[in-house]
Amino acid sequence: MELKRWRLRIKGTVQGVGFRPTVWRHARHAGVSGFVSNTGSDVICEAEGTPSQLERFLSLLSKHPPPLAMISSIENREIAPQESASFTIDRSSKDRNAADTQLRLIPPDIATCDACTREILDPGERRFAYPFTNCTDCGPRYTIIKDLPYDRPSTSMADFPLCPDCKREYEDPADRRYHAQPIACPACGPELLFTDANGSWKGTDALKRAVNALKAGRILAVKGLGGYHLACLALDGEAVTLLRSRKGRGDKPFAVMVRGTAEAAALAQIHPEAESLLTGPEKPIVLLPLRSGTGLPEALAPGMNQVGIFLPYTPLHLLLLDRIHAPLVMTSANRSDEPIVYTRVAAEEKLGALADGFLHHNRPIVRRCEDSVASIAAGEPVLFRRARGYAPAPLSVTQKTEHTVLALGGHLKNTFCFLKQGCAFLSPHEGDLHHLSAYSQFKTDIADLTRLLDMKPELIAYDMHPDYATTRYAEGLTEALPKCAVQHHHAHIASCLAENRVEGPVIGVAFDGLGMGPGGELWGGEFLLADTQKYERKGFIEPVLLAGGERAAREPWRTALACIIETGGMERAEKAVTIFPGCPWRQLGNMITLRTGCIPAVSAGRLFDLAAALSGLCLKSSYEGQAPMLLEQQYRSDADAAPYRLPIIGTSPPYRLSWRQLVEEALEDRLRGTDPTVIATRFHRGLAYASFTLCCRLRDDLGIETVALSGGVFHNKILTGLLTTTLEKNNFTVYTHHRVPAGDGGISLGQAVIADRRAQEMP
Ligand code: ZN
Ligand code: ZN
Ligand code: FE
Repeated sequence: MELKRWRLRIKGTVQGVGFRPTVWRHARHAGVSGFVSNTGSDVICEAEGTPSQLERFLSLLSKHPPPLAMISSIENREIAPQESASFTIDRSSKDRNAADTQLRLIPPDIATCDACTREILDPGERRFAYPFTNCTDCGPRYTIIKDLPYDRPSTSMADFPLCPDCKREYEDPADRRYHAQPIACPACGPELLFTDANGSWKGTDALKRAVNALKAGRILAVKGLGGYHLACLALDGEAVTLLRSRKGRGDKPFAVMVRGTAEAAALAQIHPEAESLLTGPEKPIVLLPLRSGTGLPEALAPGMNQVGIFLPYTPLHLLLLDRIHAPLVMTSANRSDEPIVYTRVAAEEKLGALADGFLHHNRPIVRRCEDSVASIAAGEPVLFRRARGYAPAPLSVTQKTEHTVLALGGHLKNTFCFLKQGCAFLSPHEGDLHHLSAYSQFKTDIADLTRLLDMKPELIAYDMHPDYATTRYAEGLTEALPKCAVQHHHAHIASCLAENRVEGPVIGVAFDGLGMGPGGELWGGEFLLADTQKYERKGFIEPVLLAGGERAAREPWRTALACIIETGGMERAEKAVTIFPGCPWRQLGNMITLRTGCIPAVSAGRLFDLAAALSGLCLKSSYEGQAPMLLEQQYRSDADAAPYRLPIIGTSPPYRLSWRQLVEEALEDRLRGTDPTVIATRFHRGLAYASFTLCCRLRDDLGIETVALSGGVFHNKILTGLLTTTLEKNNFTVYTHHRVPAGDGGISLGQAVIADRRAQEMP
């Protein structure tokens, strides 16, 4: 039979996912000879055999790739047969030519797989209780890679020479650790180090000491995958309260790590969708409804009836939970808004006053990466924070992008994004950029990912707000690159379009806190006619007064008082004073009447503040999002509560949604002693119904039946659910976010796409 030889180029997420050994096994199965090798980005494979052997090989490859791989394409061309004797795995080659035109991919960190978990818990295994166990299906990637191609010498495991046993596994294509770059065992790999006031211990003693300290109610700094956590017993009210006060964290909830799904189900209600999110390879923190009577202290998540739960995602976490037999608070180790700490030096310097002891290890973290935060909305996962497990894996956004774009994102919950060849590479969650340390970390991270992904940006996109750190960065760039300033809410809508792989035009409903409009005014409750290139403002929520400027965002009662005075003057405020106990309402009322120190702002976020304050649920908030979250959890789907009315003002665009009647009705409810659940329910229904009505008006005007929902307010599942359902029932097509956050963590994607489209239009 005549032999043929095929040369295959396989693209997609094919590096660091055990691709080559899988190809090797399939080749052996199909009986073909040849080789497989990595380039900087793709996998190259040559296979020689009879036509039927080759067909079988190709079919195995496309039907059974390794679990973490994602093949985007296989190019196939026939070349001259070489009579190769066997099938081999070639060492990675730096295919520089290819790298210039190809995408480079960096695999994200993957949570410990089931097979490794079993080994770690099996006293008969040589990796029993070894905290750095991993295989080709799991383990660190993004946080240990120094350079591509992804091979051990270019990771932070380079300094751990393999012992003979590990070497055998690493070199045996039939072994599940074949070419697992971070492979390690107790004989040759990294080890733990525990230190506290009493001394320091290594290895299994370190683990024992850490377990005992935690059991005794201590707070420890624990080095993980992408940084340190502060950990303590979640059921120990005193420890949790102490951690809260040491961290200076206000009421912001802590996330809880539990041993497995059974333990998670004891604390929270878990539906099948939530369970697969909890146990999936990304293992994000999942926000779940709390059960009653769990014994979790109020200090864990004050006032909240949901809790962030996640499962162990490294062997070290697994061992801690296995030995402690109780849920642990695991919160990012940082001082308030600063970036997460990820080196031993920084941990000892910055966390000394926060932690009673340190559980370090000596596998260096090359770059930090925070935990991802997700939830389930309408049966589907949604991401609030996209980081570990997800980033920087690319999202395929659309077919036609022409430029390599670097988009800098927003000022809060920052992510930045590279766009190239229809793929978007979002950085992990960077955080808020007001702190100098956060900004300098942001600059470092951009340089790092630019190098690693081998990006050569042709365009820079950023938010048009002049005071954002990202704007400072864009202006400070010395390269003469074209720069594109993008309106904040247009970026939100474009982000939603891009992740849904559509171009528009749509009716874009962008509801968030605040962003800057084109004339320097504050926007945040927008109805835009938008596509991925341009937008027109067709409607907005009537502006409220931010009384006392920035403080209004932290003190919802200020917005409520301003709205009361705007609708009924000081006279109405006098009647409402009982609802603002302990607040200097008269002094602020005078300012509002005179309009001094007050900034008008369109903001859906501030409407939630207004309702949270009017219902008495939250007068002052101690973290961003507290007021709307408290309001959301008071919603009762079965309540007999008519929506508050927000009529549409105007006969042609831009229309305004007026909140005046809402203020009157809600205040009346409150003064009548109506239950806050009723006020919260009427509010959500009112805003959803009014938004729906305005979409209908715009459909009549514009003939567009597609709506995109974006902006941080749509992290609110109730509003998103009510509005989506109503729109869909009335024959609208609705796009929402699932793969990137609806909030500011997603806007870099929108900025990138808009900049690319605008540049395409330029002559
Ligand atoms: Zn594994
Ligand atoms: Zn070893
Ligand atoms: Fe925003």
